[in-house]
Amino acid sequence: MIHYAKRILIVEDNKADVRLLKDILEKSGYETLQTGDGLEAIDLAVANLPDLILMDIQLPRMSGLEVTRRLRGDERSRRIPIIAVTAFAMEWHEREALDGGCDAYISKPISILGFLNTVESFVPRFLALAHGLPFPQRPATDVDGRSALCVSWLPHGFTRIA
Ligand code: MN
Repeated sequence: MIHYAKRILIVEDNKADVRLLKDILEKSGYETLQTGDGLEAIDLAVANLPDLILMDIQLPRMSGLEVTRRLRGDERSRRIPIIAVTAFAMEWHEREALDGGCDAYISKPISILGFLNTVESFVPRFLALAHGLPFPQRPATDVDGRSALCVSWLPHGFTRIA
């Protein structure tokens, strides 16, 4: 089976953040994989070779920085772009993430357009859209209110999500 949609691995243990990131990415035509566990993230990355990894830094068993270090040390996964997505917002946190092997840094709460722009700088959306999903896509009515609202805000520009 040929996969046209680009795949993004979401490494995030906060369920609300997972739902938000999945909604934004899947409605933009990307496929997602997800785990909240660092060791499982390494297994998923090596087994599936995603086109991009979104890496939370604060994870329960192993920090996202350690996961990143291990992925960079493995020939199979060392070229996969990694974006740190973290609530740590101090400048040295960004420096630490970039020095630790991440390619970019996004602080929570995210701005949806800024987030998508950063994602697209690594994984162009037109490739994701080759899968056939139109954009902009109206949120499904059975999506919970918060997620649907987040995505429906997209055409209006900058907004921030807690
Ligand atoms: Mn976390």
